Amino acid sequence: MKLIMARHNASMILGLALATIPVLSDTPVSDQRLTVRVVDYVNLQAGRRGQAEATAKRILGQAGVMVDFVECFSGGAAIQNPACTAAPGPTVLVLRIAQPRFALELEQFGYALITPEGGVYVTVFINPERRKATVGILSDGVLLGHAIAHEIGHLLLGTNSHSSSGIMRPVWRQADEEWMAKGGLLLFNASQARSMRSALMARFSRREPTPQPTPALDASSRVVAMPDFSH
Ligand SMILES: [Zn+2]
Repeated sequence: MKLIMARHNASMILGLALATIPVLSDTPVSDQRLTVRVVDYVNLQAGRRGQAEATAKRILGQAGVMVDFVECFSGGAAIQNPACTAAPGPTVLVLRIAQPRFALELEQFGYALITPEGGVYVTVFINPERRKATVGILSDGVLLGHAIAHEIGHLLLGTNSHSSSGIMRPVWRQADEEWMAKGGLLLFNASQARSMRSALMARFSRREPTPQPTPALDASSRVVAMPDFSH
């Protein structure tokens, strides 16, 4: 996921708004919940991290995918929590928050490590010392929450899961940030939501941890391990 700057007139912004209005009020909600371990390497302010998690939960929840975030590493230290010690698996994901210097491209928002089984690891990038959002009134937490939802979407939707509108748009534009700044959410469409819930059910049918490529915050491992990684 990247951001590009572009000017948009009012009608284009309205078009974006119509494309992202929540239409999933009758979406079935899975009673099975994904656990997402949060490994914060950048030591985000807790409020900002909480805002990101709340935003991601709202977006995924609109698709009927319930997520629980568990803080496992922040402030430079591991957090003692039994939920952080078991091996990750189909229903236990790992979210890493890392400095942009570990991104292949500095404007990259994140990536998902997609495997034939779906994958477990997602990484998003932010520098706490520098604003990520380009629209003044948009908080970095909300922007980061969208990136987290996008990357978890990749894990549940598989490869080639970008779409021309909504949260799975491959490139976010300034108009998207303006929409977020007004309190709007970029969402999954109905088809994506159905696919994600199906993927969730499949993951819960094989809950045993599966071998995963060892993730590393360097570009070389990404090229080898992620032929289909998306951003
Ligand atoms: Zn993507």
